[in-house]
Amino acid sequence: MTDASEHAIVVGASLAGLRGAESLRRAGFTGRITLVGSEAHAPYDRPPLSKHVLMGHVPADATTLPNLHPLDAEWRLGVAARSLNRRDRILTLADGETLAYDRLLIATGARARPWPDTAQARFAGVHTLRDRDDATALHRDLAARPGHVLVIGGGFIGCEVAAACRALDLPVTLVEPGPTPLARVLGEHLGAVVGALHAGIGVTVRSHTRVEALYNDGTGRVVRARLDNGSSIAASVVVVALGAVRNTEWLDASGLAFDEGGVDCDAAGYVLDTEGRPDRRIAAAGDVARFPHPLYGGRRVALEHWGHAVAQGEHAGRLLAEAEPGEPYAELPAFWSSQGGITIKSVGLTEGADGLVIAQGDPKAGRFLAVYGREGRCIAAVSFDCARWLPAYAERIAAGASFPPPAGASDSGALTILPPSFPAEPR
Ligand SMILES: Cc1cc2nc3c(=O)[nH]c(=O)nc-3n(C[C@H](O)[C@H](O)[C@H](O)COP(=O)(O)OP(=O)(O)OC[C@H]3O[C@@H](n4cnc5c(N)ncnc54)[C@H](O)[C@@H]3O)c2cc1C
Repeated sequence: MTDASEHAIVVGASLAGLRGAESLRRAGFTGRITLVGSEAHAPYDRPPLSKHVLMGHVPADATTLPNLHPLDAEWRLGVAARSLNRRDRILTLADGETLAYDRLLIATGARARPWPDTAQARFAGVHTLRDRDDATALHRDLAARPGHVLVIGGGFIGCEVAAACRALDLPVTLVEPGPTPLARVLGEHLGAVVGALHAGIGVTVRSHTRVEALYNDGTGRVVRARLDNGSSIAASVVVVALGAVRNTEWLDASGLAFDEGGVDCDAAGYVLDTEGRPDRRIAAAGDVARFPHPLYGGRRVALEHWGHAVAQGEHAGRLLAEAEPGEPYAELPAFWSSQGGITIKSVGLTEGADGLVIAQGDPKAGRFLAVYGREGRCIAAVSFDCARWLPAYAERIAAGASFPPPAGASDSGALTILPPSFPAEPR
């Protein structure tokens, strides 16, 4: 157990950091807690940014996260951590302030991967979407009713933005290099359902297509994009949705093991140094953490899921307060997304699946639940507006139950195993 003279620092004042700090307190940590956050805002929620905020239902500044436990913490907001010296246990901030720590939680999350051409990325009307200020700026541009919106990338954020544009009755094209939107996560089979959903609400979906360059009107405002088939499309707003990069650069001199895919942790949640040794004063949580998941054969994963940031933040807080390794972190991954009036929910990880079955409902009717399997075990389930039975499949996945699930559990007759068809090449 830690004692009252100790100082715990949480780097990254967002979902995982806030829930981690609260968990430290709940687990009996009585020392000082300082939260350091590079954003000037108090911790806020990101999921509404690509949904309700863009559609104008909720202002971006109405997304502040509630406190769930008294914190009694000091805050350093609007200043990033610049470097970490583990030998002397000193954190240096961008303004030069140094803070000594006894326990440290790394929760610096991720940022949007930028458009690769920096000059084009600076054109007026070109956006990424990760934080509250991004959402405010994009909402402002959409509210000005642009002639045409181009979304580059058919992942979850790209799909949600395209759907929000249609809800605003704006013309929008979604360009995706893969065979369908969301093919990398759901496979081509369910990706085709997502593609049809978007086509149905009026999104122009251009699969197997890349954007090669953006052009401006001579005053610096984006006007069109050139595609890899040589054609062009007009666009006065462009949303670059190319995935995320983990915020790990500040760990450069720390001797910890990390790259742009995350900071490595052991099964307990302690960070690892470059020799693979755990540092028992430091844990990581949320989008920035890459850890071996016991349900997936110890494969190292870094998740970008809201529920995971909460659960792993809470786990890390307990770990740091108790100052000794406990149970491995083994929360079943879970995710949701809303697009075009449909709520997609998933449990488990689809990666590596070698088959899927439609276990409930019917994709043609738009309401169904698919179960993914690998080597005869259930590994994930995904529902489209059909989440009622998801907890039952979550139990099967957590138990490593056999795949396919029993036909008796299905309302769609005999279960046919389909190929999920993940694209061969990662984007
Ligand atoms: C637009 C959007 C929509 C989403 N929708 C969904 C959804 O529908 N369902 C779902 O399950 N998940 C969704 N997510 C994912 C979910 O929001 C994230 O998984 C969650 O925010 C991760 O929390 P985190 O605290 O780990 O990281 P983050 O929320 O990224 O927070 C990290 C914080 O650390 C700060 N930081 C970075 N570097 C430093 C530094 N050097 N020093 C100090 N501070 C630093 C950052 O500025 C940031 O405030 C969405 C994400 C986005 C962006």
